[in-house]
Amino acid sequence: MQAFCPTCANLLMVEFFDLTGLRYACQTCPYVYNVDRKLAKKHSLHSDQKVEDVIGPPEEWELADKTEACCPKCEHGYAFVVNLQISAEGEPPTSFYKCANGKCSHRWREG
Ligand SMILES: [Zn+2]
Ligand SMILES: [Zn+2]
Repeated sequence: MQAFCPTCANLLMVEFFDLTGLRYACQTCPYVYNVDRKLAKKHSLHSDQKVEDVIGPPEEWELADKTEACCPKCEHGYAFVVNLQISAEGEPPTSFYKCANGKCSHRWREG
């Protein structure tokens, strides 16, 4: 995911704090964007859990990249993608998608 600091324009990094909190933090200045939401415990996410349980409010999607991805529901060719580290440290992040078709907005996850 690429989100940029509004004060110095450097790349913001997603990081966890307080065990379950999530925020975007600038690496070169004190800017921090707190995501006002608590993630489920890192290791309690199961494959049958809904994407909405992990990504709910729209603020993540405002920072999301648009990418080429085929929506499984409407077969639209583009989706917004958010990558989150929800599994163990060192494992690849999980990608969450939201269909870029405004009439569909279907959400799904990968990884
Ligand atoms: Zn900054
Ligand atoms: Zn769709």
